[in-house]
Amino acid sequence: MASKIAPPEKIGFIGLGNMGGPMARRLAGAGYKLAVFDASKEAAEKFAADTPCETPATLADLARDCRVVVTMLPDGYIVRNVLLGEHGVASALAKDSILIDMSSSSPVGTRETAAELAKLGFPLIDAPVSGGVRKAIDGTLAIMAGGDAALIEDCRDLLSTMGKVFVAGGVGCGHAMKSLNNFLSASNLATAAEAVIAGQRFGLDPKVMIEILNASTGKNSATEGKYPVFILTRTFNSGFFMGLMAKDLRLALELAESTGSPSKLLSDTKDLWEAAEEKYGFKSDSVEVVRFLEELADSDG
Ligand code: NAD
Repeated sequence: MASKIAPPEKIGFIGLGNMGGPMARRLAGAGYKLAVFDASKEAAEKFAADTPCETPATLADLARDCRVVVTMLPDGYIVRNVLLGEHGVASALAKDSILIDMSSSSPVGTRETAAELAKLGFPLIDAPVSGGVRKAIDGTLAIMAGGDAALIEDCRDLLSTMGKVFVAGGVGCGHAMKSLNNFLSASNLATAAEAVIAGQRFGLDPKVMIEILNASTGKNSATEGKYPVFILTRTFNSGFFMGLMAKDLRLALELAESTGSPSKLLSDTKDLWEAAEEKYGFKSDSVEVVRFLEELADSDG
């Protein structure tokens, strides 16, 4: 049985992108030692320029002397490859080490990955996050953890440096929760955008609409958060790639279909993000789906 993870334990952190970078900085700020790795040399160098850490040359070098390894990568296929691939993390990890996948990975795939890791003697916690780049910087993410309850408790302090920890259930439940959350987050934005575009074309001012909606029953996470910050300002810079949201919606649909659940709205929402991704590219910002709908309205006359 592992014991409580506390500073100055050395943590291996893999994936230093928009989210992983600030999350790993929270760990350094809390007194954990860090060994970091990113497929992009530039990302690793940028991180190491302002945060004390080791930058091992390979995944195996990172794994060799870390008891806990965190992944914050684009998707579960990449996570699986990083953990279980040739010369991957599991090839060099010490007995009793803990793996924590904070990426938004497939809940179904995570159960398979966890089963393979368990055969090698490594427990996996899935602990994806919600809140975006700003909350990653502030350490106020919502963290939805799945896995062995005692192990999550051992890692609670570590996870708490990055946000508020919720125990979602057994392994895979964190990833299930995250994909379903992003379905709601995306559909909130899509419905708000359809309402605002219709209102605007009727002659309403979008700023006034958002103010009224936020004092009324129609408010949602998009009218309260994304509209005022990223859309009314026309900055469209939430820091979350369109392609990553499209992936999350595919994962939620996979989950709904595997459980025989109703999924018409989910399917429509996924189609919308995939169409916007096709038009603007994987690395366009997820909130640019509003621009996509505006252009669609204009082209329809
Ligand atoms: P990102 O693309 O900015 O970062 C991913 C990082 O992983 C990049 O630096 C990339 O170089 C690295 N990487 C890719 N393949 C690798 C490999 N094989 N080995 C090592 N490094 C590799 O993405 P992000 O926005 O930081 O998102 C990371 C995860 O968090 C995704 O699963 C995403 O869905 C989820 N997420 C993102 C947000 C957000 O607002 N950006 C919010 C919540 C959850």
